[in-house]
Amino acid sequence: MLYVKDILLQLLFALTPFVLYTIYYRDKAENYSKQFITITCMICLFMSMTFPASVQKGIIFDVRYVIMFFGMVYGGITTGVVLLVEFLIYRLLIGGQGIFSAVIILSITFSLSALLSILYRRCSEYRKLVTFIAGISFSLIPIGTMLATEYHYTIQNLNFNILVMPVQNSLGIWILISLFNKAVSDKELYLRYLQSEKSETIAHVAASLAHEVRNPLTAVMGFLKLLKDDSITKEKSQKYIDICLEEIKRTEVILSEYLSIAKPNHSMVEKIELVQQIYAIIDIITPYANMNNVTLEIQHLEDQLYVSANPTEIKQLFINFIKNAIEACAVLPSGNVNICIERQSKFAKIAIIDNGVGMSIEQMDRLGSIYFSTKSKGTGLGLTLSYQLIRSMNGDVTVRSKSGEGTQFILTLPLFD
Ligand code: ADP
Ligand code: MG
Repeated sequence: MLYVKDILLQLLFALTPFVLYTIYYRDKAENYSKQFITITCMICLFMSMTFPASVQKGIIFDVRYVIMFFGMVYGGITTGVVLLVEFLIYRLLIGGQGIFSAVIILSITFSLSALLSILYRRCSEYRKLVTFIAGISFSLIPIGTMLATEYHYTIQNLNFNILVMPVQNSLGIWILISLFNKAVSDKELYLRYLQSEKSETIAHVAASLAHEVRNPLTAVMGFLKLLKDDSITKEKSQKYIDICLEEIKRTEVILSEYLSIAKPNHSMVEKIELVQQIYAIIDIITPYANMNNVTLEIQHLEDQLYVSANPTEIKQLFINFIKNAIEACAVLPSGNVNICIERQSKFAKIAIIDNGVGMSIEQMDRLGSIYFSTKSKGTGLGLTLSYQLIRSMNGDVTVRSKSGEGTQFILTLPLFD
């Protein structure tokens, strides 16, 4: 029974990186970093060495080989070296009879881990085999070395050595690697899905935009036809040309604004003028509002409010909120979306208010969580992405809503210093 308790405790420690990854990266739009792997492995190594399995004072067993291998697979050789140093320092501090054997075993398993982790990363088709070989080797090498260096002890406690070691190492490696792999590939899928959500939102807007670009083109064509008439006065022709230029300029602005959203993100943060930016976004989303019979209004007391943000991301952010507001009003005969911008000490406050379908309290509680959508073709990722962006800008978002009456989203973003 004692063995089982020891094994279970060590397996629990071996799961530390997986558990911390699931908690820390759950709502993040990014995958694990090498630093994360190194730190979680260090915590795991520390815990498993502090509460090891032992049948004789001075000789301890823990999941160090499992952690070392896992650390090298996901964090690379640097993580392995950091763990090796941690192990050596801590093992010397603990002291006792087993130090000599421990150092011999670790020098063999460290080199083997480095080799196997490279194989694991390079040959994706043999990953299961490599994991299996790692589990078996990390069980046999310690038993073999202990037989050579601590013969009497090993023979006296043969049951413990034969049972605990292989189960702890083979099962530990297998469980940790497979659970972590699953979590990482789920995350990759989610990230890909988020990416396609961005382009889908843009594609929605683009469909109605194409419609809207036709209007100024038709107007320009009409005026050009009028200009062909020789009897037209100089004054009138000048006026027509001005109108044409104005229409073409507006179309050009809308299209270039659209293209700047549709192009892939670049990660630069810039000083951005918010009011102008929101006007530009209204320009490109107005066709979508028209298509849904919704009027868009904007009110602002300040003319210039600067924030620091990634230009593509901030556009995406407002498009997500305004598009949702339009969609919430789509069923009404006279939907209205109002955008109010004001300054509140060191923050810009942007309220997006609609008189649409509203939300129940349960729905409001779920806002921003992955895949929550009440629309038949919704993805439930728009707000997830937007909430993440707001958090990354140190901003805040609050929502007030009542079923059947409408919704008010208030975004607060820190102003540029
Ligand atoms: P999607 O638009 O694909 O459904 P979002 O993440 O953009 O995904 O929105 C999630 C859900 O939040 C929507 O399905 C809707 O139920 C709710 N929601 C968001 N904005 C509003 C709003 N202005 N009015 C009513 N419900 C809203
Ligand atoms: Mg949406």
